[in-house]
Amino acid sequence: MNIIMFGPPGAGKGTQAKRLEEALGAKQLSTGDMLRAELASGSEMGKALKEIMDAGQLVPDDVMVKLIQYAMESPDCAKGVILDGFPRTVPQAEALDDMLKASGKKIDHVLVLEVDDSILLSRIQKRAAETGGARSDDNADTLKKRLDVYHSQTAPILPYYEQQNLLRRIDGMAEMDDVTAEIHKAIGNKQAA
Ligand code: AMP
Repeated sequence: MNIIMFGPPGAGKGTQAKRLEEALGAKQLSTGDMLRAELASGSEMGKALKEIMDAGQLVPDDVMVKLIQYAMESPDCAKGVILDGFPRTVPQAEALDDMLKASGKKIDHVLVLEVDDSILLSRIQKRAAETGGARSDDNADTLKKRLDVYHSQTAPILPYYEQQNLLRRIDGMAEMDDVTAEIHKAIGNKQAA
């Protein structure tokens, strides 16, 4: 099963994607995690990426498409993927479609974790406290920019998937376990629901 997870920063995409990975045996592909691994390597590429990410901007589409294409070729992805953080722009969504078509695959569900902007700051601050500030983009200024980017560049992809009847809207403000249960219901996974 191939799933895309959407939602603003702090919506819980990563947590729910990990849970789905365990439940379905599909591979979670978090583009944010991949980029942070590159940052941690201290490479020149990592330094350039850090500037973009700390500004709350998006990494260029061609870089992201290559990254995800390479990751999806891994044998780990044979049982499907849970895309967490990709696509984030219309050109990325189009590139993903081409990639899937070329390999005879398709997206089964597109999940949107809906959370009001007003509670995202406290969630991000909580994550920063819990992780000892591991992510330098988890702060009020960068969150504002990341949210603007989500609304202006990522949310416009949703109608595209809605037209294909793939969009499942999930209340991301419910308790974590209830969100997980709602996701399983939405994807028709009766065993876990
Ligand atoms: P995330 O961990 O998904 O919140 O991503 C953290 C940051 O990584 C984002 O704010 C972007 O700067 C960058 N990023 C992650 N995924 C993408 C993507 N698909 N396209 C462009 N930039 C991305």
